This record gives sequence, C-alpha cells and structure tokens, in this order.
Amino acid sequence: MSFELKPVPSPRPSKTDLSVVLPIYDEEESLGELLDNLFAVLDGLGRTYEIWCVNDGSHDRSSEILHEIAKRRPELHVLDFRRNFGQTAALQAGFDHARGDIIVTLDADLQNDPADIPRLLEKLDEGYDVVSGWRANRKDAAISRNLVSRIANGIISHISGVKLHDYGCTLKAYRRDVMSGVRLYGEMHRFIPIYASWRGARVVEMPVGHAARRYGKSKYGLNRIFKVVLDLMVLKFLESYLVKPIYVFGGFGLFSIVLSFITLAGAIALKLFAHTSLIQTPLPLLAAMLFLMGCMSILLGLLAEIMTRTYFESQGGRPYAVRNIKENE
Ligand code: UDP
Ligand code: MG
Repeated sequence: MSFELKPVPSPRPSKTDLSVVLPIYDEEESLGELLDNLFAVLDGLGRTYEIWCVNDGSHDRSSEILHEIAKRRPELHVLDFRRNFGQTAALQAGFDHARGDIIVTLDADLQNDPADIPRLLEKLDEGYDVVSGWRANRKDAAISRNLVSRIANGIISHISGVKLHDYGCTLKAYRRDVMSGVRLYGEMHRFIPIYASWRGARVVEMPVGHAARRYGKSKYGLNRIFKVVLDLMVLKFLESYLVKPIYVFGGFGLFSIVLSFITLAGAIALKLFAHTSLIQTPLPLLAAMLFLMGCMSILLGLLAEIMTRTYFESQGGRPYAVRNIKENE
C-alpha cells in the first residue's frame, strides 16, 4: 500500500448526506438481515443516503441477493468485482464511487451493528473528521484473534503515535474531505485514521457493539498479522520520508562510512601497536565494504530524491494538506 500525498479530487461530486460502504465476500446468509437492519437505521436518520455494496468476487449467491434487493431499493448500489481483490480494494472501490458528504464503512457479516451508526454520526457532528469504532467487547477467538490483535494494536499505536485501541474495526465514519487523496493497498484500510490524523484530521474513537460471526467463516488467518506490520512500515516510511528520502538512505550511508573509517583505524592501530599485518585481519576488507555500501546508499538516496520530485511535480501533488483557505482580494 501507499498513501499518496497528492490531493486527488474525489471522482464524483457529493450528492447525498451519507454513503455506507460494505465489503462483501461470500456473505449470502447475512445479507438479507443486515440490509434490513441497515435500511431501518438509515431511514430513521432523516438524512439522504446511499449504500454501496462491493461484491468482492463472491462465489455464493451474494451478488444475486444484492441485485434482487437493489430492484426494490433505489438507494442500494451494487458493484461486482471480476474476482476477489480483498477487503481493502473493496473499500477503496466504495470510496471511489460514494457520493456522500459522510462515508460510513462496516462489515457485511453481521459482526458490526448498524444501530451504532447514529452515534458515530453524532460524534462527527461534534466536529470530528473521523470516528473509529472500538470493539470494546470483541466476540472473536480469544487467543488467535483477540490477543494477537491487542498486541498488534499496541504496536501500531506506538509506531504511529495515533492512540486508538482498535484499528481493525471496519465500522468507522469519515468526513468525505479527509478521504481525498487516500489510496489504499494491501491491508491498509485499517490505517486510514492514522493517515488522516497525520494530515491534521480530528480523530476520535468510540466503543461499538460486536457480535460473533453467525454465518460463514472469517476470511482471514494468522498471516494477516505480518501483512499488517509490513503495511505499517510502508506507511510510516512514506509518511516520514516520502518528501525527504535522502534522510533515510543518506543517514544509513553516512553511518556506514563512519563505521568504515573506524574499522580502518582499528586495522591501522593493530598494525602499529600489535604488529599485526593488514592482511592478517579481515578489517581492511570490512572497511572497504562498509565504505562502498555507504557510498551506494547515499547515491540511492539522491536517486530517490529525483524520484520524489518527479512524483510530486508530475502529479501536481503538494507535501501539505489544507483544511480551508480564506483569501482576501
Ligand atoms: N471481505 C472482503 N474481501 C475479502 C475478505 C473479506 O470483502 O477478501 C469482507 C467480508 O465479507 C466481511 C469483511 O470483509 O464483510 C470482514 O471480513 P471477515 O469477517 O472475514 O474478517 P474478520 O471479521 O474475521 O476480521
Ligand atoms: Mg467478521
């Protein structure tokens, strides 16, 4: 994944108050009940709304069921992927098509409760840009899911500096403008609040209900944890150094060169004071390698600098985000 710093304009102009985005992969048993609940909640809000169901290449009857309901409910839009691209891609597709001023995401397996949506919206109305659900009473396997996720959440919170308890909860509400420019890859959808917060959005967390999965089974195993950690590293790197890659590469390069001089000094000292010939120790070789590695790394950093310039200038991106401007004559 990477997040782009350019302000990609949302492809579609805002048209409704609220868009709800659902990623769906083989959830045929849950869809009827879920959409009934969702419509009931949304109808009671007194806001205009639309629902985007993104069918992520389901092999069951999910698509038929969705199209059937969409015939009755014009608010329901269905987007069928050609194959399974993953939950993050499904959410991204939803964001690309959504036209609401506010975008709410939730899982389609009845684990998130649509009844929590009004509370999320109230929080947004208080002036927050992102409200993130926290499954305070999570109903998943104790060790393999809850414990692992608790540790992962701790690490993410530490590295990102954005203190949330539960990044993985899909039930979240976003103000549309914080989503502009967000491009999601890999398992990145869980990091949107972090990214938004880094760019100056006001992010808040709110406990939401959580139910055990009643139908079908979870689409994820333990390997997700590695993907999440790697994605976090990419995110951190891009956020901190996309604008100044020379700090990373050059920093490493300088460190390596300093180390090479120390090694060389060691070799010379051994020669002078311990009468060990230069070819009797691996130190001169090590010094040469460290020196070369340092030079290469600095050159790579310079190359990366050229690349980020090409990137920003060709895409019209800006290394900052503006909340609003008041410009006088
Ligand atoms: N999902 C998806 N594509 C995938 C995997 C999952 O759209 O490749 C959807 C799935 O249908 C569900 C949500 O993402 O609505 C969360 O998936 P799941 O319940 O398996 O994750 P868990 O709750 O176990 O973390
Ligand atoms: Mg689930």
